[in-house]
Amino acid sequence: MEKRKQVLSAIQPTGYMHFGNYFGAVKNWVRLQEEYDCIYGVVDYHAMTMPYKPKKLRENTWEMIFKLIAVGVKPDTLFIQSLVPEHAELCWIFNCFTSYGQLSRMTQFKDKSNQSKEKADDNFISAGLLDYPVLQAADILIYRADYVPVGKDQEQHLELTRNIAQRFNNQVGKEFFVLPEPLFTEVPKVRSTADPSRKMSKSAGEKHYIDVFGDENRIRKQIRSAVTDTGESKTDGEMSEGIKNLFELLKAAEQMDTHNSLMNDYNNGTLKYVELKDAVADALVDLSSSFRERKQELLANKKEVKNQIKASSANIRKQAQETVRQVKELAGLGNVRY
Ligand code: AMP
Repeated sequence: MEKRKQVLSAIQPTGYMHFGNYFGAVKNWVRLQEEYDCIYGVVDYHAMTMPYKPKKLRENTWEMIFKLIAVGVKPDTLFIQSLVPEHAELCWIFNCFTSYGQLSRMTQFKDKSNQSKEKADDNFISAGLLDYPVLQAADILIYRADYVPVGKDQEQHLELTRNIAQRFNNQVGKEFFVLPEPLFTEVPKVRSTADPSRKMSKSAGEKHYIDVFGDENRIRKQIRSAVTDTGESKTDGEMSEGIKNLFELLKAAEQMDTHNSLMNDYNNGTLKYVELKDAVADALVDLSSSFRERKQELLANKKEVKNQIKASSANIRKQAQETVRQVKELAGLGNVRY
């Protein structure tokens, strides 16, 4: 029987799962479990690249695990990155196969280092923030992934991963790593409802993300106040980014009948924005309440779930150890041959 393709993806323990994460990536994670061998990580090493609090980081890591299981990710596919320290070891090796210039040109590095400058008094930008995409390449290649379900914001990082894999393969004279491909959802870029010119994101601030597990009233309020017209002049008939985003949210929530009927109204010039907003809010609230309920059930068996994740991390680690053993042998490190 042909070996199933390997899928790998990961999410940072920010404390929140927003609808950008969910519709852009995590919804795909759940679906892909049927067809592929999937491994999904909560990447706590990545969450150290910006200023953080250690106690909060650990809490957020477990919080994200419970949320992922609540939305349908299977516990045996999940691991916590720092329980698999080989990711950091492979990252170091990959650092030596990565161009500094390419790293400094990464859009996310530029965005986040600007945010750091705005927030911190001391202009502190960690080397970890620059190196983040190399650790991400290690996350992906350590499991020899064929496919990576991510949002559009990660396309540039995935390209870097492919460059690193290629450079390593050239160095060792062997097609050791497959070059992974991204898998996008139908909505690969969910926009901030407060500012549709930017992506929905936790790090951009409170109003720029909608929490999947958030309070119903807050979700409704955020959608009610969604920006529909950005003021820029549009050429004839072009839909504004804000309206487009609301329609995409409806589609992502699989409310196609409502989507199509409201789109008809839009095309006829009879759409009332409030009706579109109410439909989006209803759809998001419905999803959110079923996920919250499931999370409460899981929290009733907190200890059991945590033990399950420690065991799955240990199990997944075996694959990572084997890749690193082979990489070290190919790269001329240590005495693995003797
Ligand atoms: P992060 O929270 O940065 O760890 O992202 C986790 C996953 O969510 C990644 O696959 C991202 O590409 C995806 N993601 C984050 N924000 C968005 C967004 N606004 N639209 C679509 N996908 C997103």
